Amino acid sequence: MHDFNFKNNELYCESVKVGAVAKKVGTPFYLYSHKTLVEHFQKIRDAFAPVNPLVCFAMKSNGNAAILKTLIDQGAGIDIVSGGELKKAIRVGANPKTICFASAGKTQEEIALAVKKGILLFNVESKEELNAINTIAKKLRKVVQVALRINPDVDAATHKSITTGTLKNKFGIDLKTAHEILKNAKKYPSLEINGLHVHLGSQITSVKPYVFALKKIIQFLEILCADSICLRYLDIGGGFGISYEKKAITSKQFAKALLPLLKMTGLKIILEPGRFIAGPSGIFVTKVLYNKNNGVKKFVIVDGGMNDFARPSLYNAYHEIIPTKKTAAKKIKVDVVGPICESGDFFAKDRPLSTVKKNALLAIMRAGAYGSTMASNYNIRPKVAEVMVKGNKFEIIKSRETFNDLIRGEKIPRFLK
Ligand SMILES: *Cc1c(COP(=O)(O)O)cnc(C)c1O
Repeated sequence: MHDFNFKNNELYCESVKVGAVAKKVGTPFYLYSHKTLVEHFQKIRDAFAPVNPLVCFAMKSNGNAAILKTLIDQGAGIDIVSGGELKKAIRVGANPKTICFASAGKTQEEIALAVKKGILLFNVESKEELNAINTIAKKLRKVVQVALRINPDVDAATHKSITTGTLKNKFGIDLKTAHEILKNAKKYPSLEINGLHVHLGSQITSVKPYVFALKKIIQFLEILCADSICLRYLDIGGGFGISYEKKAITSKQFAKALLPLLKMTGLKIILEPGRFIAGPSGIFVTKVLYNKNNGVKKFVIVDGGMNDFARPSLYNAYHEIIPTKKTAAKKIKVDVVGPICESGDFFAKDRPLSTVKKNALLAIMRAGAYGSTMASNYNIRPKVAEVMVKGNKFEIIKSRETFNDLIRGEKIPRFLK
């Protein structure tokens, strides 16, 4: 469910006509619904309410300040993966005590910053990283809480680039090593190693990998218990899938399968959903430039490209595409492509789409997660504007980049002058 709906054959975001936003800000742009965003945060929080989880929004899915503020105001914590994300989360008003830091490659500087800011939890991915955090915390005279990111060796049955919980992936610590670390926790006097973290991958549309991983974790907790090792946190990561092409399972269905297992652990539960909250809340709006028919295929060429919204070219991801004006025009099969000099620059292939003329607007649906955050300046294209709607109001929440933004920092070396 989302708040992008047709009224009188025109696509609206809440009470704002998408076409009216295009007139004001130009194309292409991202458009977010405040209401959809809040509702998706509440959906996941409410579904898991029986274990009263801390829901840390994974800001790598969408790090716009207005998106973060909306969710922080709802009580969200933040899941970060870099020092930049940490700075931004705090700048927008996140309480450090609600921030979890995951990354297989945290730098010294990032660790020191997070220790100084007093974040809730480091999700640690290797022994060497434990040593590094311990040393830095000691130097700063702090004791920090750490969860071990477990690699449960579960195939999340999602796209290979976004599955993370098998031993072929770089992520996490195998159970044997984790056990050894916990038994020798005294080796790290500046750490309180008191949690487990697991993140299986992204766009997971079945409860099975979660259930499998949780059962493994519960077994592991029993082994730890026998060694008198008691923990405080269980962070089960994110990954909850959404309905791109097929209908995804709901937060309630996820919760129904997982709650009994989560309760069994008796630990404070942390969730890190990103896509589930941000994905349905945003669309990418692009304008038709040309129609082209080469005798074999028909193409709709639009002004947005893979640099603006990469998921189709990166993951071959399906995104529903709808003209913002409903017409009676019959549907024909087309490729929707951008202006970038790559054949991988497409939003849809062989997609039945109502005939659209030059200047028509197309909405690429469920583009709120891993859209703007993955954008690049490839082909020297400015990053697009982002707009948020609340009720009948809308405001730019990120201005379109200018040419000066694109060349900032570049210079010709003296030896070329
Ligand atoms: C990417 C990521 C998430 C969020 O994943 P979604 O599929 O967007 O829910 C959560 N936790 C960690 C550690 C991640 O790397």
